Amino acid sequence: MKIDSFWHGNFWTGNPQKPQARTLAVHRGRIVAVDDVDGLRPSDEYDLGEDIVIPGLHDAHHHTTAVGEQLAMIDLRYPNVTTLDGLYQAIRERASKLPVDAWVKAGGYDQNRLGGHPTAEGLDQAGGGRPILVEHVSHHMVAASTRAFEIAGYPRRENFPDIDGGRVIRDEHGLPAGLLQENAGGPIRLAAAKVSKEESLEHLRLASEQSVAYGLTSLTEPGIVIGGALGINAPILDAYQTAVESGVLKPRMTIMPFHHVLHELDLNSEGLQTLDMGVRTGFGDDRLRLGPVKIISDGSLIGRSAAVHDCFCAEPDNRGVMVVDPADLSALVPAYDRAGWSVAIHAIGDRAIDHSLDAIERARRDNASTRRHRIEHFAIATQEQVDRAARLEVVPVPQGVFISEFGDGILESLGNQRAAGTYRMRSLLDAGITVPGSTDAPVSDANPFVCLRDLVIRKTSSGSDFGPQERVAVSEAVSAYTHGSAYAVGQESECGTLELGKLADFVRLSDDIFQVESERIGDIEATATVIGGSLAFNTDDVTTRRSTVTKGQ
Ligand SMILES: [Zn+2]
Repeated sequence: MKIDSFWHGNFWTGNPQKPQARTLAVHRGRIVAVDDVDGLRPSDEYDLGEDIVIPGLHDAHHHTTAVGEQLAMIDLRYPNVTTLDGLYQAIRERASKLPVDAWVKAGGYDQNRLGGHPTAEGLDQAGGGRPILVEHVSHHMVAASTRAFEIAGYPRRENFPDIDGGRVIRDEHGLPAGLLQENAGGPIRLAAAKVSKEESLEHLRLASEQSVAYGLTSLTEPGIVIGGALGINAPILDAYQTAVESGVLKPRMTIMPFHHVLHELDLNSEGLQTLDMGVRTGFGDDRLRLGPVKIISDGSLIGRSAAVHDCFCAEPDNRGVMVVDPADLSALVPAYDRAGWSVAIHAIGDRAIDHSLDAIERARRDNASTRRHRIEHFAIATQEQVDRAARLEVVPVPQGVFISEFGDGILESLGNQRAAGTYRMRSLLDAGITVPGSTDAPVSDANPFVCLRDLVIRKTSSGSDFGPQERVAVSEAVSAYTHGSAYAVGQESECGTLELGKLADFVRLSDDIFQVESERIGDIEATATVIGGSLAFNTDDVTTRRSTVTKGQ
């Protein structure tokens, strides 16, 4: 029988029935045989060589559009830029490649390193009169060019008001000098936030390029709003669909809408809370589909606004905040569940986790439902909550990489003892839960290997142990990042392991992840990424040096 291709390689399949394989036969994007390829005649044959190949990685919580937006910005973080002149030079270079009225966006500068803040006049010169927004590394202030003020409704920077909760730095004539602190940056941020469809496509292209280079073949985007965060952008699902159709966006996407876009349908739908025409979780295909509905229930850990039962260290009155009233949460979750939606509730503190579990328990009981719901982050969790999540078949979605990225800060705000039960992994697996892998990019970098390392070694960037009893084996971490993430969006029969009938998504690694020293897992790179039986990424040097990916007849 004639089929599309054979892929020869050193496969770790993730399938316990057949853990290793040497040849996958692929037809129309799916695996049609594993090793047992007698009688099959491939049109193409690829040789991936001896380096280990694992199922394609899947980031279960990856803000894809925001990742692309960040990649499109000029990165002014030290040491990319070390002086104020260097900052202007970076702006000048980027501006020269853009249309005359295009926004130039940059971020990450620190005046302590550069010797001062950029000024509107300096930006006007560097940017050739273009609108420019430069974000401070803290995200608490911005500097803008004169054209940016004009687009926001303040030509020549005139009549710019003082704004409550903000500070406008003014020159000797009383005009804004460029730097706007806290709320004062609002009008310019709003003007700069409008994203056209073309810009969205460019952001998705950049995010896709980074993802396939990281070996990511699937992404779950945890929260889009029609029109973007401010409700003013080109419709984002349209951009996603165009990006997939045109091949700009390569990884498979599962997209979560934020819950405020759901609404009650009146036409004979018994008041179901959903999208128009009853569109709900699972709608779409293996390239682009709708996932759960996203609900934010509390704040953040580093910002000490997560809803906790016991106060943060040194802040005796701070128990964080619930963003959604618990009573509303316990009404909403059953309503969404009844309309066919899985929910993904952002809950970081143990108090928010309790409310989330209550709401999910109610949905399952009232609707006699077995729908698979998720709790994003599931950060400060007790053993009792772990056991309850297991009973309710809830999928917690922790971010291993937060351990190296924010672990020292978390230890400081929670103390060692409470931090030990934070971003759990081992106890989740021991409770029988299938756990996914994720980074929350761009909050952390999307590099899955750094996250995999953190799941295994659990060390902060200063080298402190972070809940070492929650460490997992390398194979468990890899399983989470492949099968676990697929399971978290109900796709485990489609991908996550390399077996008969599944999508042909796999990634070749620069080092054997199961053999290298665990500290070095973070240095591993993807050297070839295959999605649906097509090469989406392949490092040229590897191809020529090892001549590993060769196409023959
Ligand atoms: Zn997130």
